[in-house]
Amino acid sequence: MDTTAFTNNLQKYAQLIIKSGCNLKAGQELFISISTECVEFARLLTAEAYAQGARHVTVKFHDEKIARLHYDNCPLEVFESVPEWAALLNNSMAREGAAILSVVSSDPYAMVGIDQAKPVASAVASHAACKEFYDALDLGRVVWCIVGAAAPAWARVVFPAVPVEQAVAQLWDAIFAATRVTAPDPVLAWEAHRASFNERKQWLNEQQFDALQYRNSRGTHLTIGLNARGIWQGGGDMTIDGTAFFPNMPTEELFTTPDRLRAEGVVYSSLPLVHNGALIEDFSLRFKEGRVVDCQAAVGQDVLEAIFKVDQNAARLGEVALIPYTSPIRQSGILFYSTLFDENASCHLAVGQGFPDCLEGGQTKSEDELLAAGVNKSATHVDFMIGTPDLQITGITASGEHIPVFKDGEWAF
Ligand code: ZN
Repeated sequence: MDTTAFTNNLQKYAQLIIKSGCNLKAGQELFISISTECVEFARLLTAEAYAQGARHVTVKFHDEKIARLHYDNCPLEVFESVPEWAALLNNSMAREGAAILSVVSSDPYAMVGIDQAKPVASAVASHAACKEFYDALDLGRVVWCIVGAAAPAWARVVFPAVPVEQAVAQLWDAIFAATRVTAPDPVLAWEAHRASFNERKQWLNEQQFDALQYRNSRGTHLTIGLNARGIWQGGGDMTIDGTAFFPNMPTEELFTTPDRLRAEGVVYSSLPLVHNGALIEDFSLRFKEGRVVDCQAAVGQDVLEAIFKVDQNAARLGEVALIPYTSPIRQSGILFYSTLFDENASCHLAVGQGFPDCLEGGQTKSEDELLAAGVNKSATHVDFMIGTPDLQITGITASGEHIPVFKDGEWAF
């Protein structure tokens, strides 16, 4: 490995995350959630945040092996509540307007075989206890950003054929490529990337589609209702006070929140899905009146079923995202076993929480108003990939006109 080039890229990556991802302001608090596997990178991010004027940086470390020990040893009831300090930490960070940065580096197999009721209970408890925190994220009150960092257990799964040290180096290089860190000026490259979404976003918003119809040879045959006054987003987000940020790096998607009550038909997965530290492969979901009524997986049936048990809205759609089959991440040929990356390789859907900013005036609406307008509300949000080279997507207008949106896995317009 060329260590100078690596050090240089890592520095550029940290700068990019703080500057473009978090758009950190002078005097602002930064709240980083990161694995103990990435201590060095946590230090680099902290140093970079101070270089860019942070008032204070709070780093919350987590450790997957210890988390696994909790799952293996604690009874279910332990996961049904959140320690008071943890809720206080999250809620106070949101209240103070901290930028919320999450660094993911998970071992895709860390939690294989655990009782799925435990992470489900944990998600529900966390959403109840940290309501102020999650509302701040969902309603555009704070900046939030999710990025990846290479770690040995993850790298081993992505690049199984090479020694682990080399796998980590290759995974870092793949992360740098996917996040445009290798561009001469990554911050400028991300500004150009943001602008590149505008034309298609505008076209989609002008169509005011009432529904999207999905078809492919795998058996997908699904119609999804879209909300009146729905908005397509992509290429970054903005807080209600006008701070531009990137919730995910990388990001290649144009997305909206569909009508939580209207989805009919069957959809087949096109990529494996890692959820709660376990793999789900070759699965299909059947929707009726907007709700998943049947699910089948060749691998990970229990993990798949657990997704829909989080709460009463976990089986309804929160997101519809369009990504051409030839996206740069797909073309890299790398399966990352991480939704942050893999969702950018394929058209996808997500069940669970919807996006209030994908509805006109949504961020100032109450919970009940959002639900009534079709925006789903749930303690979970799970993306799953459905894009194939033969995927056809047709937009249906309120007057019944059919307009091609995707033809053979690519934009049709
Ligand atoms: Zn998405």
